[in-house]
Amino acid sequence: MQIVNLEEEILDLLGGADVVEWREAMSEQSHDYDIAIIEGSVTMAEDEERLWMIRGRAKILVALGACATIGGINKLKNNFNLDEVKKCVYGKNASMPHLETSLTRAIDEVVKVDYKIHGCPIEKKEFTYVIRCLLMGKKPEIPQWPVCVECKAKGNPCLWDYEQVCLGPIIRAGCDARCPSSGFRCFGCRGYVDAPNVTAAKDVIEKYGLKVEDLKSKMVLFGSKQRPTDE
Ligand code: SF4
Ligand code: SF4
Repeated sequence: MQIVNLEEEILDLLGGADVVEWREAMSEQSHDYDIAIIEGSVTMAEDEERLWMIRGRAKILVALGACATIGGINKLKNNFNLDEVKKCVYGKNASMPHLETSLTRAIDEVVKVDYKIHGCPIEKKEFTYVIRCLLMGKKPEIPQWPVCVECKAKGNPCLWDYEQVCLGPIIRAGCDARCPSSGFRCFGCRGYVDAPNVTAAKDVIEKYGLKVEDLKSKMVLFGSKQRPTDE
């Protein structure tokens, strides 16, 4: 929906691309494409089969949004007993045989992903930037620094001083510190930055009299079984 909401900008992009399949916006379907953009996580066997088929056909595969890039909120279920999850979501008489054994996974836990467009929701600007780069044959630069960098650049007061356990120090930037700029802690929708400064994060935790477990407890929404998990 974020992409449909690009409005005029989508017309520019469509000038450089021939869109052959887009389930949100058109009914045509095709198996002939160079770039595939996948959203959603992988849970069922049929998801996995389809993903392998798409990977086999596309020259470039892009994972779009938190569910595709890190498993997202869907991955929460991996933390719980599956029967309990099914009862909770579908009611006590629900039968969901296709979920019997499946763990939810991010796209790159199944097939090779060339680029990731992070976030929940994604940043529209980042989407257009990445797609423009790909259409021009350039490699898009995805931020390798944490949310704190963007947050500091905006002059925001740090939410740790206001008793919020903000995940900004270990989460990938690129959202322009969307949440802290509105007074809410970062809850990690863009996933861990590639090389999180764990030592600095531990220093911050200690400075505010908390424990690593307190920080981990704030990772549950988007960080469930995300890699790296243990530090
Ligand atoms: S509010 Fe969050 S993102 Fe901003 S500086 Fe503090 S820890 Fe970093
Ligand atoms: S501040 Fe954190 S939770 Fe908010 S959009 Fe950015 S990465 Fe996602």
